[in-house]
Amino acid sequence: MDACTRCQTDISGNTFFYTVARNSYMFGFFCSRDCALESEHNRHLKGTVLRVSQPPSTHRDLVLVPDPSMLKQYNEELEKRKLREKYF
Ligand SMILES: [Zn+2]
Repeated sequence: MDACTRCQTDISGNTFFYTVARNSYMFGFFCSRDCALESEHNRHLKGTVLRVSQPPSTHRDLVLVPDPSMLKQYNEELEKRKLREKYF
């Protein structure tokens, strides 16, 4: 079963889904634009919400669904690196 990454609605029968794009990667399967925008994933990603006109099952290998805490950690590392580059 494919479920919305945010609200767990079953979207396996859908002919389209929403995802959050950033740096040419796609993150999460969402049932609606709002779910994608408001998701914890997007709070860290601040990406672009895309509507993909394909069933979620066809994109299982293309869409990443990381743990939100991993994204948070990644952003913190990125911030630290930016600061380091700025001052050293
Ligand atoms: Zn949803």
